[in-house]
Amino acid sequence: MEAIYASMGISREIYQYGERIQEELTERFAAIDRLAEYNQLKVVRAMQECRVSEACLLGTTGYGYNDLGRDTLESVYAKLFDAQSALVRPQITCGTHALALALMSNLRPGDELLSPVGKPYDTLEEVIGIRESRGSLKEYGISYRQVDLKEDGGFDWEGIRAAVNERTKLVTIQRSKGYQTRPTLSVERIGELISFLKGIRPDLICMVDNCYGEFTQTIEPTQVGADLCVGSLIKNPGGGLAPIGGYIVGARECVENAACRLTSPGLGREVGASLNALPAFYQGLFLAPTVTASALKGAIFAANLYERLGFRVVPDGKAERYDIIQAVEFGTPEGLVAFCEGIQHGAPVDGFVTPEPWDMPGYDSQVIMAAGAFVSGSSIELSADGPLKPPYEAYFQGGLTWQHAKFGILKSLQRCLEKGVIPAISPGML
Ligand SMILES: *Cc1c(COP(=O)(O)O)cnc(C)c1O
Repeated sequence: MEAIYASMGISREIYQYGERIQEELTERFAAIDRLAEYNQLKVVRAMQECRVSEACLLGTTGYGYNDLGRDTLESVYAKLFDAQSALVRPQITCGTHALALALMSNLRPGDELLSPVGKPYDTLEEVIGIRESRGSLKEYGISYRQVDLKEDGGFDWEGIRAAVNERTKLVTIQRSKGYQTRPTLSVERIGELISFLKGIRPDLICMVDNCYGEFTQTIEPTQVGADLCVGSLIKNPGGGLAPIGGYIVGARECVENAACRLTSPGLGREVGASLNALPAFYQGLFLAPTVTASALKGAIFAANLYERLGFRVVPDGKAERYDIIQAVEFGTPEGLVAFCEGIQHGAPVDGFVTPEPWDMPGYDSQVIMAAGAFVSGSSIELSADGPLKPPYEAYFQGGLTWQHAKFGILKSLQRCLEKGVIPAISPGML
């Protein structure tokens, strides 16, 4: 084993250090395997109960009327999420699109949107109109209110109660911390928040941005009262195989609203050809529990590896996981860059290129990104990025297999060692 790692640029000391960390994680990895086992059965059960057949793997063209595979897949998603209805389509281009669709179709002029968990994901700022943008909710007369989490990460119950008013129509709750430092919300905590909100006004529509959270626990937010749950197929539920797509699951009325906005009033879910996407959607969903488990193991491995070397990691090495994102704070641009270079050099696609920081539109500093993916931009595949500004944090996620996640992380550590970002691994650490 050491020899093949050596042939791929991993020194003996880095390899042994990795082995040592992995040994300490035996119990946690076993628990993740059990999680994957449970979720695997959940997926197979849903597919069997919906009578998925070989014919479901064939797609349609043109209008896509009576698309058996598409309609059956949507039943599978509904069943899996314990929801009344689902919309799972290649015409939903990404996570932001799915979220925008759910919002724009369920809000009307004069309504107010509330986020009780602080600032939403960056791309939603333009959807909502927090940053001026063409076609935002704000342009349509839909206002927005936000209640930040408390310093300790808890909900500001009183602030939330005060923020709900007669115009509040929909509440958006982001499960994953995304690229912020707040804690990720467990499904149980989301359930508490939804109960509280429904206690104030039972007719509030509660939507969860489920990106990066799917299959990290045994239950999903629709099982604790969410009316809508929304995500991207090039993250967890696509299992690395879906080449595009998003999903919206939840209460029938809410999902129908989204369908009529995605296609057209009067047409709704009846149109929308699945083309050739269905085999990847089905097989990706089938693989999603084990792929997500691999990404979880990678995140925990990286946290422990870097934490031991004195870097601040969020979440820390011991923390329970409710999403697949790991942050490592380097404190220097050299550290962040070396980390991303290492991840890139571990990739099966474009592993020979070296990423460089660049001025990305929409950011106030340079950004570096490492991604050598089969599906462009897919972040269920091993990937990392970070803005070139203090505290020089790298955000890292994905890994279609645990073995590849491990290799990529060891490559990052090797690169950090070569660039002098970390000192030599001392014998005491082995
Ligand atoms: C990735 C992500 C989004 C946006 O998804 P895209 O597919 O990148 O448009 C929204 N919210 C959260 C929490 C995410 O992680």
